[in-house]
Amino acid sequence: MQTILTESPETAAGFLNRGEVVAFPTETVYGLGAAICHPEAVKKIFLAKGRPSDNPLIVHIRGKEDLPSVAGEISGFARKLIDRFFPGPLTLVFRKNPDVPDSVTAGLDTVGVRCPSHPVAQEFLRLACCPVAAPSANISGLPSATSWETVHRDLDGRISCILKGGPSDIGLESTIVDCSGQLPLLLRAGAITLEQLREVVPETRLAAPPDKKEPPKSPGLKYPHYAPSAAIVPCAPEESVPAVPCSAYIGIGEAPPGVEKAKLCRDLREYARELFSFFRQCDDQNIRVIYCELPENHGLGRAIRDRILRAAGSYQC
Ligand code: AMP
Ligand code: MG
Repeated sequence: MQTILTESPETAAGFLNRGEVVAFPTETVYGLGAAICHPEAVKKIFLAKGRPSDNPLIVHIRGKEDLPSVAGEISGFARKLIDRFFPGPLTLVFRKNPDVPDSVTAGLDTVGVRCPSHPVAQEFLRLACCPVAAPSANISGLPSATSWETVHRDLDGRISCILKGGPSDIGLESTIVDCSGQLPLLLRAGAITLEQLREVVPETRLAAPPDKKEPPKSPGLKYPHYAPSAAIVPCAPEESVPAVPCSAYIGIGEAPPGVEKAKLCRDLREYARELFSFFRQCDDQNIRVIYCELPENHGLGRAIRDRILRAAGSYQC
């Protein structure tokens, strides 16, 4: 299959509306979209990524006006979160509208919904014939793609079109909050922080760590994620680490002596933006070990920590 690269939302939406799969930029990471009114296109997403079919997709909408077409009842606290954070890097999970195909939600009776704020994504969604199901635009298990070039490397020849935009501003996937119960439950940390959520709904809770007896609330989180080929080794700020050949470091503090490659970030925002792209660069340069400074479990630090620990093979939220 030929993969068309374009900067035109019209061209990209043309492919989408004909039942093809299209990668598009968002403020979090690049998405791999299919129109939910084309269930056969939704199946192509799973094929292109090698994604397990029990891992549900997030549905992307143009604005609040599209919510009734995908979600069932919306509670009072969910309305407050929508009013404060849509459009933006927040996915809310609701009971689903029966019109949403099971292939999108992996058979769950809930659906994750997001309204991205990226202007190119907004234009693309406005031109789409219906809401757009989209996971991150990368081969399953690899770090999410934060640039069109990375999407191209992973998915060239597997999808019809890539809508080019600049690098993703946030660089980490959306915050996911389950709004299908009595109170909001944080399922995945992201750029909308727990503290910000609690400013709007103080009762917002963290999801409990996964329990082998119970099915996970967010099925995707049970799979290995965000993992480059290099080993990820979390480290404390200023911790002295063994000098090994072909090692690299990313963090805010000083790099340990002896690493071959280092990315020193000014702040957490830059750290989040650069993390996945750094993982990919390290793989290109045959780095074997990446030391990652673990930020405190607070604010945006919680999301960065979560991705580092998952990439290292340990669970977090
Ligand atoms: P990705 O877009 O690649 O980050 O993957 C989407 C993430 O959203 C996965 O971790 C899914 O488990 C999660 N997700 C999507 N729909 C739901 C849902 N209905 N309930 C809980 N988590 C969901
Ligand atoms: Mg993903």
